[in-house]
Amino acid sequence: MPPAPVNGLSVDVEDWFQVGAFEHVIDRADWDRLDLRVERNCDVILRMFADAGVKGTFFTLGWVAQRCPSMMRRIAGEGHEIASHGWDHARVFTFDRDGFAHDLIRARDVLQDITGCAVIGYRAPSFSIDARTPWAHEVLAEQGYRYSSSVAPIHHDHYGWREAPRFAFRPVAGADLVEIPVTTAELAGRRMAAGGGGFFRLLPYAVSRWAIGQVNRAGHPALTYFHPWEIDPGQPRVADAPLRSRLRHYTRLDAMAGKLKRLLSDFPWGRMDRLAAIEAERLA
Ligand SMILES: [Zn+2]
Repeated sequence: MPPAPVNGLSVDVEDWFQVGAFEHVIDRADWDRLDLRVERNCDVILRMFADAGVKGTFFTLGWVAQRCPSMMRRIAGEGHEIASHGWDHARVFTFDRDGFAHDLIRARDVLQDITGCAVIGYRAPSFSIDARTPWAHEVLAEQGYRYSSSVAPIHHDHYGWREAPRFAFRPVAGADLVEIPVTTAELAGRRMAAGGGGFFRLLPYAVSRWAIGQVNRAGHPALTYFHPWEIDPGQPRVADAPLRSRLRHYTRLDAMAGKLKRLLSDFPWGRMDRLAAIEAERLA
């Protein structure tokens, strides 16, 4: 049997008050007055990764990096990749081309200045590169990004680009940029995003293990992503958010750490830039 593919391990570094589900009940202007918990949660994640002996990629908001520079240096210092998640979680389809280019530059400048590491990877907030943003990958290629992990090839109520390829592809003709879509699984003719988020946290761990196994058995690497707030049962509760959002956000936070430990030991994991380099070679 060929060796199992190395899968991409990623953390989307944002805090509990920055998630899309709460954007209508938490005022952007209040962010600096809210309890910033991302740093202690990232320290828990760093310990977990160190215990498992794995390296991963931290797609970080420029807004967070600016407020937590020592955390950023700890992440980079432990051998993890620093990549961009944009400035303040504005989704790509809310920008025009120039606005997106500006958001990318602002976030990358801060990430690189703080860590001294070159940023070559990008993940759009809420996987928001889709059919509405045909210029987005071109802008990433113009700015020299090597990879993006910003597309969800599914239908979902908040996001999705069903027509996009399921596995790594070159989105801009003549450019080296590789897009690595979020991992999807297929069951009874239905396709679902199986890379992380609610799928991983809300469903039994065995479902994620099955989905990643399905992708690996087909010869493809999978990726997983989660957020620092997902391992933090003590975070403040946003009472006036819609019930559906609250159910999605707060359910099974206490089970996450245990599930993540199993995930890290059941499959081989690596940084997304490493995965992107392997995929670029395969696509060449
Ligand atoms: Zn995010």
